Amino acid sequence: MSEGSQFREHSLEVGRRVYIETYGCQMNLADTELLLGQFRRCGYEPVRDPAMADVILLNTCAIREHAEERVVGRLGDLYRYKARRPDLQLGIVGCMAQHVRDRLLERLPFVDFVVGPDAYRRLPEVLQESGRDPYIDVRLDRSETYADLEPHREAGVRAWVTIMRGCNKFCTFCVVPFVRGRERSVPAGVVLRQVQQLAEQGFREVVYLGQTVNAYHDGEVDFATLLRRTNEVPGLLRIRFTSPHPADMSEATLEAMATCAKVCPQVHLPVQSGSDHVLHRMARGYTVEQYLRLVEKLRNVRSDMALSTDIIVGFPGETEQDFEATLRLLREVKFDQAFMFQYSARSGTKAARWPETVSPEEKLRRLREVIALQEAIAHERNQAWVGKRVEVLVEGPARKKAGWTAGKTPQFKTCVFPAPQPPVPGSVVTVAVREANSHTLFGELAA
Ligand code: SF4
Repeated sequence: MSEGSQFREHSLEVGRRVYIETYGCQMNLADTELLLGQFRRCGYEPVRDPAMADVILLNTCAIREHAEERVVGRLGDLYRYKARRPDLQLGIVGCMAQHVRDRLLERLPFVDFVVGPDAYRRLPEVLQESGRDPYIDVRLDRSETYADLEPHREAGVRAWVTIMRGCNKFCTFCVVPFVRGRERSVPAGVVLRQVQQLAEQGFREVVYLGQTVNAYHDGEVDFATLLRRTNEVPGLLRIRFTSPHPADMSEATLEAMATCAKVCPQVHLPVQSGSDHVLHRMARGYTVEQYLRLVEKLRNVRSDMALSTDIIVGFPGETEQDFEATLRLLREVKFDQAFMFQYSARSGTKAARWPETVSPEEKLRRLREVIALQEAIAHERNQAWVGKRVEVLVEGPARKKAGWTAGKTPQFKTCVFPAPQPPVPGSVVTVAVREANSHTLFGELAA
């Protein structure tokens, strides 16, 4: 899935109090909601200010470069609260906890607990009982889906629902199978009940989450069936999912996307490289030709389909010709958006044992080139919306324009428009698009 870096704080007030900072992908944000649900059940209240907390957690990510330095720096900073109040518990949870436990404890001896993504179930109770030694639990659990645990979500328009955990793919650059374990799916009945409740609570859109979300499988219920059943949930307006793996995109899923009106015409389809040689070394399980055929099928499902992707440049063994092939692929597909990274080794992965063949300077050059190209393509893609009308699911005030309202189109494009009487969040309005840049559509409410 896309690991576009995000950072959030979570909140509320009083009781024994917990403060959580979240790093990394949307799955980590969903795990924070799960942790908050657990802590609340054990009598904790979430707080926005670490100074008010009895427990401080960093929910970490091991996917991106410099993540460890960032977490070590931040924990060093948060230590000042513990220095003032030694009973405060400070801990690390998430993928990085799983990945570099020993190193973290060596560098941060004041940390009270290190807990991996499969060991959240008893965390709040354990902390209330814990003695002086650091509590460590980084066991992977092949069956843990947290299906019976209710996440704590703040009210909103869009809810993120984890439907599967782990990954079986073992791409040679990726730590996910090592830190999140093997694929397992949340029972379909649990997922659908949750979506029904979310719709009753006023959420209008669900985003199904999984590292390879379209590999979802619960007995007879595959991903296509889950989409079809979700489409029947009353009150729900839109369904999205992220991230599907190209090799798992079945004809049945394409068919469900074509026939379910609530499934949005938007797919994040990580390609990583436009060269068969590199894709093979990455063990991605598809060729460029197969990927392009899938793009064509998705655009046949809906001609207004928006596609985004992930790209890695400078993978070990990537030649100039391989890189050129990636640029060609971008020009051919014309993605609406891409998350682009220069390769950096993750310890424990197969690729980390291979010699780096692309110098840091060259990686940076390739990254800059690919970003500049994609920026131009995204601008062109958005320009195509100027003069058209779009259905916008209203989210609230626009962040950068006072008096304007923001929402998302079915293609997940941010659309902003002036609204002296702002429409209610969760309502759908028609907006005539007047201008666009590579990130945002600007328009006005249509009559
Ligand atoms: S599919 Fe590959 S990149 Fe995605 S999570 Fe699994 S191993 Fe990592």
